[in-house]
Amino acid sequence: MHTLDLPGLAADAGAEHAAGAALAGLTTLRLGGRCTHLVTCADTGSLVAVVRALDAAGVRTLILGGGSNLVIADEGFDGAVVRVATAGIDVDGTLVRADAGALWDDVVARTVSAGLGGIECLSGIPGSAGATPVQNVGAYGAEVADVLERVELLDRRTGERHWVTPDALRLGYRTSVLKHRDDALVLAVEMRLRGDGLSAPLRYGELATAMGGEPGARLPVDEVRRTVLGLRAGKGMVADLTLDDDTPDHDSWSAGSFFTNPVIEHADLAGVLGAIAARVGGDARVPQYPADGGRAKLSAGWLIERSGFGKGYPGEGSPARLSTKHTLALTNRGAARTAELLALAREVRDGVHEAFGVRLVPEPVLVGCEI
Ligand SMILES: Cc1cc2nc3c(=O)[nH]c(=O)nc-3n(C[C@H](O)[C@H](O)[C@H](O)COP(=O)(O)OP(=O)(O)OC[C@H]3O[C@@H](n4cnc5c(N)ncnc54)[C@H](O)[C@@H]3O)c2cc1C
Repeated sequence: MHTLDLPGLAADAGAEHAAGAALAGLTTLRLGGRCTHLVTCADTGSLVAVVRALDAAGVRTLILGGGSNLVIADEGFDGAVVRVATAGIDVDGTLVRADAGALWDDVVARTVSAGLGGIECLSGIPGSAGATPVQNVGAYGAEVADVLERVELLDRRTGERHWVTPDALRLGYRTSVLKHRDDALVLAVEMRLRGDGLSAPLRYGELATAMGGEPGARLPVDEVRRTVLGLRAGKGMVADLTLDDDTPDHDSWSAGSFFTNPVIEHADLAGVLGAIAARVGGDARVPQYPADGGRAKLSAGWLIERSGFGKGYPGEGSPARLSTKHTLALTNRGAARTAELLALAREVRDGVHEAFGVRLVPEPVLVGCEI
């Protein structure tokens, strides 16, 4: 048992402490029980002091940003949740620095209004800047790895602060060395953008088409941001944080895509495509994209839909359903429990496996629970 006086520690560090806080209100799924302690840190100095003290005392600690990629158990979290609420954003020429707690979409909006290109395709992704390297966030053909210069970390084993370059983070498709580990805390991110007012070359067909351009085109950053926000809104993929709203959009009460797109080894691809043809018909074409090492990334949403899980599954009245706009998002319709969402996740994962022999892997971080 640790003997740390958490309210005292928080007060000394200039942070806020709450005992027994409900975590549901701090996640975009609105799911999860209570934590023993919630400590909210609004500046980097207090964040470092609090996490160092918790680690030194051996207190079980969960780092929380915007809660948009977390599924927390109904039982909650027996330990300290540290909420990263730092907010600084600094634009210096084409170099952009953001504190870990800065809202990611505020960072994107600031850079777009400064005419900087590189992260406009990542518009509308909920959560914090500090979480973006954790799973190398990506959308519409771009990912944060494209622009990251360096990341400031607190090494939680030694208590040291240091900057690392992206190669040390091994950023991959929705992953990095930071994901599913808790020995490093991101304190700040730095990105190098383009200064000519134009986007990075568009790599995503749907976006290029929506903009009337060709893949590879570079278009004004503000127009790309507007188009991306429109496309995302149409799929319920912009988090709805208006908790007091009388008519909440439950399609966005999600953790975004619940499963990553499965990456299939070259040697297994023919078998998977054969299973797809046998079930769906020879003309069916699963959207696929090249991945490293000759592998192929298949569309998880397409596989889910073709396994019999359509939009809105299992239907009206169910507390947890697939989004009615996007099969890849599992949503809380207002009164779900984590257990119900996870049961749906298991059903979808197992159904896709049975249909096509492909095992889907969850994208969010599961805390105190599993599927
Ligand atoms: C509607 C919706 C749409 C989404 N669309 C996309 C998308 O297009 N592309 C995409 O990649 N993701 C998407 N996501 C997922 C999510 O928004 C991102 O993963 C986001 O970066 C998570 O940020 P967060 O601050 O909310 O992290 P949290 O959910 O708070 O935390 C996620 C994980 O990161 C850890 N973490 C958080 N902050 C830090 C830190 N400072 N240092 C170390 N670890 C930390 C946490 O401990 C946890 O393990 C979407 C989510 C939603 C709800």
